[in-house]
Amino acid sequence: MHPRMNLRHPSIPLMATWTGPHANCGDTPSPRDGRPIIAGDIFSMRESVYAAIYDVLYHSNVADRTLYSQSRLAAHDLMRKEHATKKIRPCIMMRDDTDPLSVCKPRTICVTTSWEKTPLTDLPELFQLFSVPLFPNRRISRENPDHYHSLPGEWDIEDAFVFAWEFESRRSIINRWPSKEPGDPPKEPVVFGKVAQARLAQDCVNKREEWVRKCRLDPKFADKHARDCLKHLKKLDAERAKDQSSHSQAAFNFPSQKSRMAVQACRSRTSISSWKSHLSIMSAGSRRGAGGCESESWRRVRPGLHRSCA
Ligand SMILES: [Zn+2]
Repeated sequence: MHPRMNLRHPSIPLMATWTGPHANCGDTPSPRDGRPIIAGDIFSMRESVYAAIYDVLYHSNVADRTLYSQSRLAAHDLMRKEHATKKIRPCIMMRDDTDPLSVCKPRTICVTTSWEKTPLTDLPELFQLFSVPLFPNRRISRENPDHYHSLPGEWDIEDAFVFAWEFESRRSIINRWPSKEPGDPPKEPVVFGKVAQARLAQDCVNKREEWVRKCRLDPKFADKHARDCLKHLKKLDAERAKDQSSHSQAAFNFPSQKSRMAVQACRSRTSISSWKSHLSIMSAGSRRGAGGCESESWRRVRPGLHRSCA
């Protein structure tokens, strides 16, 4: 039977319960108690999943100096970018914070990713080890039962994962997910409830300990994974460069192939990259959840907050 979310009872508006194989996956949001950020809040940020991957490598005691230098250089290049990624990404806050959101400071987060729809088994092993599916996700099965549920409903991106490695990000917060632009927070912000947040925090501890243990046991372990990751990133960069080149060519030929209306729409964009960024935002989908975790508007993004802290 396909798992189905029960309608919320009016007297317990914040509780989510599920049926079928997810019958034990019910959850409730943590009390906010006036704090601007509580662990489990999810915010839109321009942070890259590769920031997390480089952080893993940084804590892996990579022995090969060339690999180590290449990893650090790639991490540094990413950190220097105004936006780590074109896509706006939902990131999970891992600590409570009483400071206003306008305070520019490092915040401990876990990033979410759909790996651009690449099958998990086609990715480097390091990517796989830290990827925990977000329901709904075709990866969830008897063989791979681990997963998280969001509140108030299903995660709004298909086949997404949490990269269960918490790290400090200086990227600025844009808005509560699923809003992708600065402004008033959404009426139905998505959160990780008490159960999901506690499980994610524990998974991060367990996976980190297991990773560090393996690195200590086998001096070649970290080198192998660093090599695999850098090789994958090099391949990805090459594919993106090729993709960008073909898009540029397509744009050059655009007027002869598309309607005048489409051409005007294209001209309204400042560049191919901003157009692609727009498409990536639009393709993220819309909320399917029912009911909000918190209805009051408690934050308004201040001018300038959109910039990265880095
Ligand atoms: Zn479940």
